[in-house]
Amino acid sequence: MSRTDVVVIGGGQAGLAAGYHLRRLGLDFVVLDTQPTPGGAWQHAWDSLHLFSPAAYSSLPGRLMPPQAGETYPDAAHVVAYLTEYEQRYELPVHRPVRVTGVHRDGEFLRVESDSGTWRARAVVSATGTWSRPFIPAIPGRVDFRGGQFHTVEYTSPAAFAGKRVIVVGGGNSGAQVAADLAHDTALTWVTLREPRYLADDIDGRALFDHATARRKALDEGRTDTGGVASLGDIVAVPPVRVARDAGLLKAQPMFDRITPTGVAWSDGTTADADAIIWCTGFRPALSHLAPLGLRGPGGRIPAHGTQALGEPRLHLLGYGDWTGPASATLIGVGRPAREAARSIAAFLAAGTG
Ligand code: FAD
Repeated sequence: MSRTDVVVIGGGQAGLAAGYHLRRLGLDFVVLDTQPTPGGAWQHAWDSLHLFSPAAYSSLPGRLMPPQAGETYPDAAHVVAYLTEYEQRYELPVHRPVRVTGVHRDGEFLRVESDSGTWRARAVVSATGTWSRPFIPAIPGRVDFRGGQFHTVEYTSPAAFAGKRVIVVGGGNSGAQVAADLAHDTALTWVTLREPRYLADDIDGRALFDHATARRKALDEGRTDTGGVASLGDIVAVPPVRVARDAGLLKAQPMFDRITPTGVAWSDGTTADADAIIWCTGFRPALSHLAPLGLRGPGGRIPAHGTQALGEPRLHLLGYGDWTGPASATLIGVGRPAREAARSIAAFLAAGTG
């Protein structure tokens, strides 16, 4: 069994941002990550995925992401290269591949058990993201469908679907981008819960981040909550989405009511046959390793103040979404909550209460 001040679980962007700040504060820590190579979920993105912000607005603390030659919005491979360089540059102690199976209370320590050994830590940062927990809604008839069903995490490129009848479900950025990707070479039906809400064409991730920062300031100052970034719209009109939309290829249908062996059906009797359904229906936080702590609250989340779990002050939750800090599930947004978590842990340990 190894001992350390802090175990960071997850070596994607959130885990690295935590590591950066823990190192600056001189704490002893390890980062444990299931992936054999650096880059977190970005290693598994579909081929055409590009960021919705320019490189400089997609940076972790300390090091600007360099621009990608020929691209305003970098692709996922560029993000992986950046994260790889980042963890090397700051000599972050990432252990791979290590899957954490459970975090347990153990007197003054938290005991972190994994498939590659056990650590005793005085604090834990959980930064495991959401990619490993794809969500598909329960729709009647789903198991009867004879075609292929895929979640966003399994989608790579239109090649496998060329000439086929494909139903893409989801009105967020993933749904719009995958639909745009498929719109040219497949018989596409795009299905969304409500009418797609595009952000203005001149708005990209920079504006989203500015909005999140303003919201954060308002909350800090006790002013009225301006609402999350969702109030601006759901879909960033990145260039491929804009092209497909303007060509009239992204006409959304309302959500169907059931799935049949050959396709989908609406309550008014309309049907659409399909060879494949692609579910771009989001993710849930990957928190099963924290189950032994018994902290789970409504919606599968763990109640927290900032990043600190309410029921276990030695545990911090980082990067899962607005509930762990405004814009914390973005490259540029995770820096601030990571800094707050590291400072809070340092203060906690210094006070000798850990
Ligand atoms: P991840 O990248 O998922 O990293 C978590 C790591 O923890 C992984 O390596 C995982 O294997 C590991 N792990 C999980 N469970 C365990 C365990 N039990 N033990 C050990 N390790 C574990 N953000 C932007 O800023 N700009 C964008 O343009 C943008 N586009 C996006 C597009 C899509 C389609 C999606 C889904 C997200 C996008 N995001 C974007 C949001 C966000 O930046 C990414 O989701 C990002 O990958 C989240 O980083 P993370 O470190 O929180 O999680």
